[in-house]
Amino acid sequence: MSGITAPRGTFDILPEQAGPRAALEAAARELLEAAGYARIETPAFEATELFARGVGESTDIVQKEMYSFDDGGGRSLTLRPEGTAPVCRAYLQHGMHKLPQPVRLYYLSSFFRAERPQQGRYREFWQVGVEAIGSEDPALDAEVIVLLAALLRRVGVRGTRLRIGSLASPGTRAAYRDELAAYLHAHAERLAANVRERIDLNPLRAFDSDDPDTRAVMAGAPRLLDRLDASDAEHFATVRDLLDRAGLAYEVDPRLVRGIDYYTRTVFEFTSDALGAQSGVGGGGRYDGLIEVLGGPPTPGIGWAAGVERILLAAGEPAPSVRPVDLFVAYEERRGDAFATVVEARAAGLAAEMELAGRTLKGQLKHADRLGARYVAIVEPGAVRLRDRGAGTEESLERDAVVARVSAS
Ligand code: AMP
Repeated sequence: MSGITAPRGTFDILPEQAGPRAALEAAARELLEAAGYARIETPAFEATELFARGVGESTDIVQKEMYSFDDGGGRSLTLRPEGTAPVCRAYLQHGMHKLPQPVRLYYLSSFFRAERPQQGRYREFWQVGVEAIGSEDPALDAEVIVLLAALLRRVGVRGTRLRIGSLASPGTRAAYRDELAAYLHAHAERLAANVRERIDLNPLRAFDSDDPDTRAVMAGAPRLLDRLDASDAEHFATVRDLLDRAGLAYEVDPRLVRGIDYYTRTVFEFTSDALGAQSGVGGGGRYDGLIEVLGGPPTPGIGWAAGVERILLAAGEPAPSVRPVDLFVAYEERRGDAFATVVEARAAGLAAEMELAGRTLKGQLKHADRLGARYVAIVEPGAVRLRDRGAGTEESLERDAVVARVSAS
């Protein structure tokens, strides 16, 4: 072995880890498709400009977390750091505004961010996400939030907490940003250096700081939730009311800011006590201005993304879900007959395997035990001995009767 290992912050998905992932994917597919969401997958890389414009130049993602490269022809491409901007790009590119609105989409894809790797934070990670585009009805906000809660519950994520907030409309937020920036400048000497440097670039991010002095300053900062205009306030009140009607518990968090510029109005985040420092399981919000920023007509939208690895961590270790083998086909000479039997068995929907490692017949039977095979077919000239391992019985059959016999059991 040359000593080459996977890059820092990346991971292999080994066969024993594939089962829980597949179960999560199946749960997501079932739940989301039943609610009218259809699968979409976009390319792993896009024009860098899509994220610069869509996610926002002032965000951490665009400032320092993107894997960008030249396509060889002078054009900058970027491995996708998130899914919303690409899905909105696809919505526009394929004229989905002509479909009945809202268009409901979901994805299950990997994303790339040049972050400092730690438990639950990787440089390539997977997200399941939804985007519902073309309606500003607050019932859609409540729908997507309830769906994420249902998914987390269904896959057994423990200790979840839901926080919601409103980031208002762009005009209100711009006025609030100025008010907040003025407040931060007035308290600049007590702020952490990295917060102070970003006062004018992105003052809202000051709410994310872990620095105790900064947090003390932020406790007295003006709150955007107190500045909502009448229609934003009504939208937010309706979302809360609908969540109440769905019986979903939440906390209103006036300091909930998300590290992406496109959000408007509703934002939300699910955390789990079962996780350590990286407690965010999934979150999202409205992005009523995003499609316009990407060159389309004014089109509202809302979505969320949840980290697959975080969900699996927060759901704890499930029992390994290896498919049990229905039939193991052993043989000494009749490889062709054994092979034909396995092919027939698989075509009939059975989980079947044959000997492939040159074991003695005794070794093959031991291997069948190890696999937990329900039946072992020992293919011999003229006939097959079929053992029911559970019952401890054995019968002799014509080779072409074996599959029907096992299928019927
Ligand atoms: P975001 O797209 O930043 O809103 O993140 C949505 C969710 O994706 C988070 O709540 C995490 O569960 C997950 N996530 C984000 N960044 C990472 C990362 N670097 N590694 C693993 N999961 C991540």
